[in-house]
Amino acid sequence: MDDPVTMLLGKQETDRHRVKGVYLDHHATTPLDPEVLDAMMPYLKEFYGNASSRSHAWGLRSTKAIEKAREQVARLIGAEEKEIIFTSGATESNNLCLKGHADRDQNACFVTSCIEHPSIIQTCRYLEAKRHSVTYLPVDSYGRLDINDVTNALSDSTSLVSIMLANHEVGTLNPIAAIGLLCSQKNVLFHTDATQGSSLLPINVDEWRVDFLSLSAHKMYGPKGVGALYIRKHHPQISLTPLLHGGGQERSLRAGTLNVAGIVGFGAAAAIALRMRDEELKRLRVLRDRFWNKIKEQIDGIVLLGHPLERLPDHLSISFPGIDAEELMLEMEDLGLSSGSACSTGNGSPSYILKNMGVKHEFIHGSIRIGLGRFTTDEEIDYAICKISETVRKLDKERGI
Ligand SMILES: *Cc1c(COP(=O)(O)O)cnc(C)c1O
Repeated sequence: MDDPVTMLLGKQETDRHRVKGVYLDHHATTPLDPEVLDAMMPYLKEFYGNASSRSHAWGLRSTKAIEKAREQVARLIGAEEKEIIFTSGATESNNLCLKGHADRDQNACFVTSCIEHPSIIQTCRYLEAKRHSVTYLPVDSYGRLDINDVTNALSDSTSLVSIMLANHEVGTLNPIAAIGLLCSQKNVLFHTDATQGSSLLPINVDEWRVDFLSLSAHKMYGPKGVGALYIRKHHPQISLTPLLHGGGQERSLRAGTLNVAGIVGFGAAAAIALRMRDEELKRLRVLRDRFWNKIKEQIDGIVLLGHPLERLPDHLSISFPGIDAEELMLEMEDLGLSSGSACSTGNGSPSYILKNMGVKHEFIHGSIRIGLGRFTTDEEIDYAICKISETVRKLDKERGI
């Protein structure tokens, strides 16, 4: 009965709407934590006031809820409330940071990596069309940046560096604290897209010396359509032009009536993440390692993509050479997985991330991503291992191997 789907749809409706199977695509999106939904519900029902309406109780109720959520999100990353700007998600946060900075400085030059999320890469392409210079740093075969390459790329004209914390496709972690230190020594602003890993890794904006940081609620068991940009306070070089002009919401950096229920859910998700992260990090790492060790025994020639150690604790990217990952996934409809080969990248072409890591075509073609999550159980993992191994063997047999 506490199950959120049951609550929303009523008992008889539930079975028809529930998807059966094992969801292992937590880096595409995470389910809503039931505790998050509980926190949001009152703001979808009785507390509908506009958070900007300071003249009555309805509005003030929402204002207070937003302030609590701001504190919860700030605490997760070691920031202060006034340093958090709520947005519609990490895509918007990334756009706001880069375009907002470029708009204030016609000569702004950027440094980023070649395996960032499209919301960074495509924004950088747009900025290049606007005559800004962008350097796309290479990564090694694990998808990791070399700090020396960052050092060499910084010139007197560089004004902002944007490097992701963890890659969504291969799970590799970047040396964010080292890059932050370097940027602060060179007096260059530093942005990190911390969308992946935000519910498990101990993020601290001061220890890492980041000036901007992007988050998304739906990658950390919160609702879709909500995110945040952390902006360091009292920094003489920081000045952003908003993407959206209008009312004075979010210190005039992001106009528009606040999504109260969504932001409340984001705050709750951040509080739960902070409470659970050390324990969950250990649990998921053990579960993930068990997955890899078992499946590796079952399937010959299987390879791990991304860094073996410096990776998200709940993430695996693996490849079955000779296998077509799209075909494999079609044979396993009850497993929610994604692939770096053509179809699941969304644009019909193989992953630019794996290509830029120098992964061979055959390995890209046979790659799948396995993303464990907060509600993933041992039984689900055992089932997935059996299903994948059986299906790979079946496809091998059909090819006459
Ligand atoms: C999902 C994701 C985004 C985009 O987040 P949205 O909130 O869906 O816009 C940006 N960066 C990374 C690394 C992501 O994984």
